Amino acid sequence: MRYVSTRNNSKEYNFENVFLKGLADDGGLYVPKSLKKYSTKELSELKNLNFNELSTEIIGQFSSNFISKDKLKSLVKKSYSTFREKEVVKISSAGELKILELFHGPTLAFKDIAMQFIGNLYEYYLSKNDKKINIVVATSGDTGAAAIDAIKGKSNLNIFVLHPNNKISSVQRKIMTTVEEKNVFNIAIDGNFDDCQNIVKQMFSDLEFSKSINMSGVNSINWARIIAQAVYYFYSYFKLGKETISFSVPTGNFGDVFAGYLAKKMGLPIDKLIVATNENDILHRAISKGDYVSKKVKETLSPSMDIQLASNFERLIYYVKNSDSEKTANIMKKVKQNSYQIEKNDLDIIQKDFLSESCNEKETLDIIKKNYEENNIVLDPHTAVGVGAATKLSFNDCIVLSTAHPCKFPNATNNAINKHEKLPDELQHVLDKKENFQVLKNSTEDVKNFIKSKV
Ligand SMILES: *Cc1c(COP(=O)(O)O)cnc(C)c1O
Repeated sequence: MRYVSTRNNSKEYNFENVFLKGLADDGGLYVPKSLKKYSTKELSELKNLNFNELSTEIIGQFSSNFISKDKLKSLVKKSYSTFREKEVVKISSAGELKILELFHGPTLAFKDIAMQFIGNLYEYYLSKNDKKINIVVATSGDTGAAAIDAIKGKSNLNIFVLHPNNKISSVQRKIMTTVEEKNVFNIAIDGNFDDCQNIVKQMFSDLEFSKSINMSGVNSINWARIIAQAVYYFYSYFKLGKETISFSVPTGNFGDVFAGYLAKKMGLPIDKLIVATNENDILHRAISKGDYVSKKVKETLSPSMDIQLASNFERLIYYVKNSDSEKTANIMKKVKQNSYQIEKNDLDIIQKDFLSESCNEKETLDIIKKNYEENNIVLDPHTAVGVGAATKLSFNDCIVLSTAHPCKFPNATNNAINKHEKLPDELQHVLDKKENFQVLKNSTEDVKNFIKSKV
């Protein structure tokens, strides 16, 4: 499969570029030149596959020039052997809603599913290439932990993780900062997540710097993450055995929900994808009325979604513009000036596939409380936003992606139901272990210097 950039589709790339670089040199995101579209008959042949087999099938559609099917199969198996659920994910219920539990990996959020796979993909690549790679990633709390767990201790790889200082939950931070492996570096930036993401983007576009350290990115724009996430849409669709289904997806950077859109484009009969946001509601304003103007980031109970500019939205724009990279590049200029309003025609196209809702802090707490009292389940605050969005839109018959284990967000559950969930035994130790991280100013130069001093 060949890939192009959303901002210039005259130049082609292979999976290796796409996976190692994350972002194209022109600042655009990689998208495949063409997509496999499964027929109804082909889909019915996939429906009895287990999670690992389905991962191998879906990911294999995108990576065949890079990795053989057999190798991919063993890599997938290795990636998911660390999960607490044999089938990796689990479907439970909250009243009429189905809950797709994606948090049974080593760091208790859905990001483990893609990241464990990516960690092993790096290892596979480095087994064939004599190189040293430095991974740099910004996190709103969960990506960093998942990436660290996937990369720690692997040879010829370092990982630098930037998180917004004091803006993530302490459990989130401790899972990252108590890791002892020497190839892991945590940096707390005096700023918010968007600042962290900006610093990483600036370092990538400084080609001299990024080439000099062989910099690689694993944030949610990485195409390899998206394809690994598309798998659970297929899996849960097959498990429920309905003709069509809708999904409600707690959304920050638009990565997870874009994976659902990809599954739909590949032929999976998804009706609607509900984009569920917290009070950082730019995506809700965009999808409901075309208003893609960012405001100041608010800190909420669901910090992994405290994001204004959703990087992956660019991919949707590209598809809505019928794969016209020139139009996409022009729109991204407007986004940069914070003056993008989605045209009526484009909005109509978006609304065929997407709906949106946002939940404020009180609603989020109420949903946690109500589900505890009525259904005897404890939802994490991100999942609660997903449940709330589905409920507000009266989508009772849909699958809500449950993106994190509630024990990661004790403040929210304490606040809502006066109780917090225990960490699984294998993570108890992070609570009182010594933490290791460096606080830096919101300055790209400072971060560059720090990284240079470590590599
Ligand atoms: C990252 C994250 C999200 C948002 O996912 P995106 O792909 O950025 O939209 C939602 N919930 C949790 C718990 C997360 O860690």
